[in-house]
This record gives sequence, structure tokens and C-alpha cells, in this order.
Amino acid sequence: MRNFVRVLRMSWAYRTRLIISVIAAMCVAVFWSLNISAAYPVLVVLSNNQSLQDWVQQQIDHYEKRATDPAKLKQVADLQAERQVLDENPAAPDQHIPGWREKREREIAIELAGLEKELSSANWKAWLYRWLKTTVIQYLPNDAFRTFAWIVAALVIGIAVKGVFEYVQESLIGAVVQRTLFDFRNQFFRRGLHQDLKQLGEAGTTELMSRATNDVEQIGTGMKMLYGRVMLEPLKMATSLVAACVISWQLTVMFIAVVLVAVVTLNKVSRSMKKAARKVLERMSELYRVLREAFDGLRVVKAFTGESRERRRFRAANEDYYRKTVRVIHIDAAVGPLLETLGVMAVGLALLAGAYLVLNKSTHLFGVRMVDDPIGPEALLTLYMFLATIADPVRKLSSVYTKMQSGMVAADRVFALYDRAPAVGANADGPVVPRHARGISFRNVCFSYTPGNPTLNDVNLEVTAGETVALVGPNGCGKSTLLGLLPRFYDPDHGDILIDGVSLRAANLRSVRKQLGIVTQDTVLFDDTVLANIAYGRHGATDAEVEAAAKAAHAHEFIVTLPQGYQTRTGDMAASRLSGGQKQRIALARAILRDPRILILDEFTSQIDGESEQKIQEALRAFVKGRTTFVITHRLSTLELADRIVVMDGGRIVATGKHADLIVNSPTYRRLYDTQAFADLAGKQAA
Ligand code: ADP
Repeated sequence: MRNFVRVLRMSWAYRTRLIISVIAAMCVAVFWSLNISAAYPVLVVLSNNQSLQDWVQQQIDHYEKRATDPAKLKQVADLQAERQVLDENPAAPDQHIPGWREKREREIAIELAGLEKELSSANWKAWLYRWLKTTVIQYLPNDAFRTFAWIVAALVIGIAVKGVFEYVQESLIGAVVQRTLFDFRNQFFRRGLHQDLKQLGEAGTTELMSRATNDVEQIGTGMKMLYGRVMLEPLKMATSLVAACVISWQLTVMFIAVVLVAVVTLNKVSRSMKKAARKVLERMSELYRVLREAFDGLRVVKAFTGESRERRRFRAANEDYYRKTVRVIHIDAAVGPLLETLGVMAVGLALLAGAYLVLNKSTHLFGVRMVDDPIGPEALLTLYMFLATIADPVRKLSSVYTKMQSGMVAADRVFALYDRAPAVGANADGPVVPRHARGISFRNVCFSYTPGNPTLNDVNLEVTAGETVALVGPNGCGKSTLLGLLPRFYDPDHGDILIDGVSLRAANLRSVRKQLGIVTQDTVLFDDTVLANIAYGRHGATDAEVEAAAKAAHAHEFIVTLPQGYQTRTGDMAASRLSGGQKQRIALARAILRDPRILILDEFTSQIDGESEQKIQEALRAFVKGRTTFVITHRLSTLELADRIVVMDGGRIVATGKHADLIVNSPTYRRLYDTQAFADLAGKQAA
């Protein structure tokens, strides 16, 4: 709920549209009731075969006569006179019966109030009908059928106007919801980019994608329900109820009370049905247990001649099950007829009460005043129409709850990811790492992906600026992980990494990453042109610079043979013809263009064939000069680039030195060499 409200708060930015939609919803509700109330004049015209003009005149005459009824006026005058007499003779008739005087005064007051109310109500109604006559009715034709035609036309216009407001309301709400989702998706994506790789590992790419799309869409459905239905439907109900109450609030209250009793009864029945069904399930599992025990232990049952005991046990369980099932059958069979009877009873009761008032021209039911004036069948039927149409909003509202519920669940799911604070902070205010010129230190670095299972164990390594360090070791020994700590894909659990004396953990992250260039084994190319893919290395690079970088990476020669050269899209068919080696050369060009101070090459030559490799080695030799370079490789030829070889095993550094030393001093290195872990070794030896 809390998270759902957070999304709702985002839609506050579009409050003007929301407010207009609420006003439109109110208009829809008013027109909805107005349209239903068209039934009233229709019934008047049809049942009396009378034009509305005649009918209104009749009403005016009736109420004027009642407002000036001589008998009532005389009654009022008499009562007022009696009160005056009582006021003027304070002592007179009170001598014999104590309290008589107060009692009589109270009676007079009550009677007078009743009479005055009756007269003023008649006056008010006469005024209302006169007003109706002068504003609307006098313009209507003076003929029953043509009046009817006018009413139908008015109804059509009413429905059309309601339709316009409905259109405004729905489209405004749709727009607000979609705009909010648009903002929210953007924010979610922004957060997604800021998450650290550990979090990405936990949640997974597909999970993030489904939350950003499906779950966000679900939130949208929930919001649409809330803003659309939850506003409009109760308004419709309210106007219908108000209209019904205007005809007779007492009848309306009675009807609703009867319906509530029916609903509560049904609720009780359905609850006992659920209970009974649960009991059946329990007995079924009991039966199952007895069966299993008997058959599993059949050997023992037979050996101890326990058959009759088992039979009794089973019979008892079976009987229990049978009884409970029969109970469910009884309840189930009773529900349908009960529902029907209750429904008819509720409607029948309401109809009876109304019909009694109409047929007897009465205003009271069991001594309770139900209507101010006797009502006609038109008024009663219109009242019932209002009450019946309340069912529609109720039905629509009932589906709202489940949809909003799933919107809330979706909001919780999305925010569970949204709210994760990345462990690797951007440190925007942290110290800026200056242009790297001194050295990189790994100090007592420990790291584990899963707690208790260390991937790096107390790694210490000092690298001076401009040095080329090759990392070798068996697969899974932690080489990539160690180099992944430099761009802070992860932070070490213990220990520290310093670039030119600035600890990475505290340093401004951008200033670190800007100095890094990375080429990895699995090349990532975006669905864009080759040019854009290389230019990704440096913002604002010119085409000439891109081409120069491509030449340095020996990529230019194959790029120009592509169908559209540098403009070939890597997502196209043409690009799917790119070999792994070609893709890696594009990635290398990207890194060269970046002109980084620190270069990380993670087995990037693995897919490059022998001929290109020769050229790339040359290019690299020139490129690594003056840069601090880390290279993970299985190729001896690449090792030759290195000033120093670092041998890793089981998350530790086990030796460092030159090839000639290591072959003598490091058993791990020798083992790698002997087991031909160096991919190009076989070829070299054969040569
Ligand atoms: P190398 O580069 O030496 O082959 P890695 O650094 O890739 O080794 O991996 C070291 C260990 O960490 C391996 O056991 C690998 O399975 C594990 N590992 C690598 N990446 C992850 C990850 N994202 N989540 C969990 N474990 C990982």
C-alpha cells in the first residue's frame, strides 16, 4: 500500500488534469441520474395520456388548493386563538388538573408545527411546479405523443453529453496514468543503471526487465482503477441515492436495509459453506492417512491379524467423510433456492411497501410516515429504477478491489528493487583521482561473491605507472574478479585499493572510471553503427579520430569491406557476419579511442586468429607504452608484452616475475606451462 501511494504521489505532478477529471466525473454522475430520471415524465405521459403541460398545471392546481385549503387554514387559526386565550389567562383552567395547561400548550405547538409544515410543503411544491412550467414545460408541445418525442430527444442528448464527459474523464485519467508510468519507468531505469553488479547478480537481468515492464503496467492498471472507477462509481451511486431519497428517503432506507439483510444472510451462508468444504478436505486427508497406514503396514496387519481393527478404523473415517460431504451437498443444494427466495423477498417487500402507498393513496406505513404526499405509480417506478441502477456501480466497484490489490503487490515488487541502495556509491563529493602517474596498490584485498566462500584472499600487489602486468592462473582463480575491483564493479570486503595514493572506496567514481579502458573476452556491441560503437569510447570523438583508432586496432581494414562501412549497423544481418575476432577488434578500437591511463585486457585475444593476432600484438605494443596495463591471457605471445607476470591460484597471488624465473621457481606456472594451458603454446612448440 505504502509503495503504491508513492507512485500515486508521482502523479501529483499532473494534478490539474486529475482535478478536471474529477469535475468531469461529477458531471457524468449528475447526467447519469438525470438520464434515469427521464423515466418519470415518460411514465407520466404514457400512464395518463396527458401532455406535460396539462400534468404540470394539474400539479400546480393540486398544491395551490392544498396550500390554501380553508379547513386547514381554519384549524391553524383556531389553534392560534386557543393559544392566545391560554396566554392571556395564566391561571384560569389549570386549577382542577395539575399540569393540564403545559400539556395542552405542547399539543398545540406540535399540531401547529405539523400543519405549518404541510402548508409550506404544499406551497413549496406549487412554487416548484410553477417554476418548472415557466422554465421548461411551457416550451414543450401541448400534445401527449409530441411531448413524448421531445423527452426521447432530450434523453438522447443527455446520454451524448454524459458520453462527452465520460470521454474527457477517461482520457484525462489515461493520460495522467501513462505520464506517471513514463516518469516512473525513467526513474527505475536510472536506478537500474546505478545499481552495482552484485545487485544485478542477485536480481538478474530478466527480473529487472519484467519489473520495469509487466509490474509497472500492473501498477498502471491499479492506478487507472483508482482514479477512474473509485472516483466515478461512488459518485454515480451517490447521485442515484440522492435522487431516490428526493422521492422518498424512507422507502430508500427501507429498501437498502432489506438488501443489506439479504447480503448479510448470503455472507453467512457462504461462510458456513466454506467451513463445511474445509472440513470435507480435512476428512479426506484423514481417510487418506488411514488408507496409507493400513496398506503401508499391510505386512504387520496381516502378521498380527489386525484386519478387523483396521476395518473398523477405516469405516469410522469413511463415515466421517461421508457425513461431512453430505452436509456440503445439503448446503450447496440450499444456496440456489435460498438466494432466489431472499432476492424475491427483498424486492417483493420493497414493492409491497411502495404498492401499498400508491394503491391506498396513503402516506403512512405501520404508523410511520413514508412520503410527504401520496405518490403516484410514476414516482414509485422511478424510485425503483434509481435503486436498481445502483447495482451497476456496485458491480463495477467489486472488480476494482482485486485489480488495485495486484497493483499494490506490483508496486511492492518494483520498489523492492528500486529502493536498494547501491553498495558502490558514486562519491560525487569524494576526492578526485588525478591523472594517473604514480602507481596502483592492492593491499590485503579480500573479496567473496557469496559470504564464507572467498574468491580473493589477501591479495597484495604494487604496480608502478606505465607497467604492463600479465595475470595468469587456472580458470576460476579470481583474475577477472581482481581486475573488476579497479573500475569498482565490486568493492573488496576487506583491504583497500589505491590509485596514486587515493583509496578507490572514497574517490570520486567518475574520476576513476574516466581513466580506465576495458576490453573483455565477451565483446558487448550496441545495436548501432560501427562508428557509434567505437565512438562510445569517448564522448564527442570526431569521425577521423574514430578511424584512426580503428586503424590502430587493425579493425579499419575489415570495416571498410562491410556493406555500409562505418555506417553498418551491428544489429543488422551484415553485422551478424562479424566474427568474434572482428568484434573484439572493434572493442579494442573503442578502448584505444578512449586513450585511457589504465588499460584492462581480459582474455580479449581469445577469439582472434593467428594472422590478425600478429598485427594486434604490434598495435598493442605501441598502445600500452606509457599506460598502466593489466592483461589476463592464455597466450605466450601476449605474455611477452608484460614487464611482469603475476601468477594466481585459489584467489591468492602465488608468484611474480619474468617467464624465465617463473618457469624455474613457480610450480603453478610450470604446471600451467606443462598442461599446455597456454593456448598458443602447442603451435609455438610445433613450430
Ligand atoms: P578467472 O578470471 O580467474 O577465471 P573469475 O574471477 O572469473 O576467475 O572467477 C572467480 C570465481 O568467482 C569463480 O569460481 C567464479 O565461478 C566465481 N564468480 C565469478 N563471477 C561471479 C559472480 N558474478 N557471482 C558469483 N560468483 C562469481
